Amino acid sequence: MSLATSEALAAMSNVYTWEPPDRVIAARYGVPVEDVLRFDLNTSPSAPDFLSEVLAGPFEPPLNEYPDSTYAGLAEAAADYVDADPSEILVGAGADEVLDIIAKTYLMPGARSVVPVPTYAMFRVLSGQRGADVIPVPRLGPGAGFALDVSAMLAAFEQADVVWLCSPNNPTASSEDPDDLEALLAAAAGRSDGGPAVVVDEAYIEFAPGSLVGLRSRYPRLIVVRTLSKAFALPGLRVGYAVASRPTIARLELVRPPGSVATVSATVGAAALRRPELAAANAQDLGVERARLAAGLSSIGLPAYRSVTNFLLCAMGDRAAAEGATEHLLRHGIVARTFGLEHPLADHLRFTVRDRRQDDRLVEVLGAWMEGRSG
Ligand code: PMP
Repeated sequence: MSLATSEALAAMSNVYTWEPPDRVIAARYGVPVEDVLRFDLNTSPSAPDFLSEVLAGPFEPPLNEYPDSTYAGLAEAAADYVDADPSEILVGAGADEVLDIIAKTYLMPGARSVVPVPTYAMFRVLSGQRGADVIPVPRLGPGAGFALDVSAMLAAFEQADVVWLCSPNNPTASSEDPDDLEALLAAAAGRSDGGPAVVVDEAYIEFAPGSLVGLRSRYPRLIVVRTLSKAFALPGLRVGYAVASRPTIARLELVRPPGSVATVSATVGAAALRRPELAAANAQDLGVERARLAAGLSSIGLPAYRSVTNFLLCAMGDRAAAEGATEHLLRHGIVARTFGLEHPLADHLRFTVRDRRQDDRLVEVLGAWMEGRSG
């Protein structure tokens, strides 16, 4: 698909857009492709170092056969990692496929989906794709740490089929208040029909403790979604999983494709989950680097909101400033995460924490733009 077509499609609802790939940015802005720096995708600066060992194979089943459609090895590794039973795990091709499976299971035309705003864009996109009505619930403002408006959420999900939450939340970089989450789960469970499915996307959980997986037996419709794309530093693998009560997982399994995770990915993913110390160390290092990047941004007049993730959210002042800074950065091959014009964070930019060299380059180029603006 041409870029123009994909951009036109993205202007419609129910389509998720990423910033263009490196080679397109390089061609558009006349920078060498190797100089393009990605601050938009919340990935890690490098992959874990055990990869070559595992990638050498052999694979079981061998690659001339389909993967084991139950993904027993991967599910067991995930189960051990989160202290659950494999029957409480569903695996998928990234957290995005897991979210899609949830949407397919619980949503249909006319169903209701509650989405706090802002949060991970796929919740709205997937709900729209199933024909569900999205009920957006604005968060409290930055002064309140972008907390959930619990009473508005409670009012909205009276008739909801799915409530989508994300903690720590992308793009606000903060964890939800555990009391708020429990209040929502308890209210959902109190509904006479058993209540909506409550999805908690924990893509960034390794950066900030406080997982809800331990609540799955008390709240059988709680579905916690995880990924190997963030602290595990393996987004190219495409491995994600859900943790939920056994009956809920059994229901999700009904619409899971039998072979969407490649054998190579399932094998490497299981090996990564068996070495959680690597993800913990990556999260720890990125936390240290996050403080350094935040200080750098602050020094050029761009204080970031408090973050418990591997990204920082900055208020740019107004939309024109956000657009101007984005263009300036792109001319230097630096890609920031922008938000659409209609988005409540249209005047913000999000920056992934990378390594010292890349982060220093970001601060230098953005600093020059800030100076040019004030000068
Ligand atoms: N959930 C959240 C909150 C995310 O930020 C992302 C990736 N940006 C995903 C899910 C998608 O993860 P995956 O790569 O596993 O599909």
